[in-house]
Amino acid sequence: SLQHDARRAEIVVDLAAVRHNVRRLAAEVGPDVALMVVVKADAYGHGLLPVARAAREAGAPWLGVATLDEALALRAGGDTGRLLAWLTVPGEDWAPAVAADVDVTAYTTGELDDLVDAVARAGRPARLQLKIDTGLNRGGCTPADWPALVAAAREGERAGHWRVTGIWSHLAVADEPEHPANDAQEKVFREAVETAEAAGLDPEVRHLANSAGALLRPSARFDLVRAGIASYGLDPAPGRTPDIGLRPAMTASATVAMTKRLAPGDGVSYGHTWVADEPVTVGLLPVGYADGVPRHAGNTAHVGVAGTRRPVRGRVCMDQLVVELAGPGEEPAVAAGERVVLFGRAPDPTAQDWAEACGTISYEIVSRIGGRFTRRWT
Ligand code: PLP
Repeated sequence: SLQHDARRAEIVVDLAAVRHNVRRLAAEVGPDVALMVVVKADAYGHGLLPVARAAREAGAPWLGVATLDEALALRAGGDTGRLLAWLTVPGEDWAPAVAADVDVTAYTTGELDDLVDAVARAGRPARLQLKIDTGLNRGGCTPADWPALVAAAREGERAGHWRVTGIWSHLAVADEPEHPANDAQEKVFREAVETAEAAGLDPEVRHLANSAGALLRPSARFDLVRAGIASYGLDPAPGRTPDIGLRPAMTASATVAMTKRLAPGDGVSYGHTWVADEPVTVGLLPVGYADGVPRHAGNTAHVGVAGTRRPVRGRVCMDQLVVELAGPGEEPAVAAGERVVLFGRAPDPTAQDWAEACGTISYEIVSRIGGRFTRRWT
């Protein structure tokens, strides 16, 4: 396959930062709450296997992924720890995941029927977690259907098809801890757990909280928290999260391809959406929206140049973008062939800064960056 040149554009992932963040999160939730590091979507763009190894080294007892394929990739990469997957479609084959000792998640009794068949083919009982939809209205069993799902799960457990290892749900507004939906979801969740326990289920873990829930609502922690974004050192609820010393793990940088002086009146990039009103020096960066740099960064985001923040000028193109490196009377701090940081750690702009500039969340910035950037782990 096509190899890209690291001299042009590179993502560096600091695995020591991941380990640090995982240890900080574990300390924050305390010894009675288990930590699941969420590594779906290629570890939010940070690299599935390197991040998984770092998380395990830092003591994470659980990893979480969306798809069964992601879970199997972890097993193929040598991960042997507890691992939960939660997103399947009808007709998907669960047998390889059961055989690989992945905790799988069911939302419906129909899925339990499929799982009986998968267990027979895998030749071993499954580890099964049940997900209740407590108000996100995304995946999960509705509260109305929950007693039937629990009954079927208990029956399957008695029949030896599986052991029900967990009951879980997901918060809708965890980044606003005072939002009434949080109380409502916690209440529905507690009731769902009671119903399950009354029916004879005895799960190892009950879990509801993501990073924001884990850090902002101790009442939502239950037995385990599923932390994604905070493991990567990004703030799950900007401006609200207590500072626990998390460190952003990803830095995306690019090499200045060329520089040029612009005169007042010169327009930059397609549509001339930015026009110089003074003589400035601009630099061309060889990355664009095909590499996951948001097109919305045009005229809004900044890059880090030798400790200062310099604006993106004009529209982001498919493969390139233009930044203002120096204003009137200034000498640029970098020349063609030298590096600038798109986002990383302060004083450079962060993924959160880019998210705010682009009208999105840091999750989208880090998980979509890629394309022709090379990736390296330190
Ligand atoms: N749990 C589930 C079910 C998720 O889908 C996600 C990711 O969105 C997480 C936990 C982790 O969320 P966060 O990255 O906000 O910690």
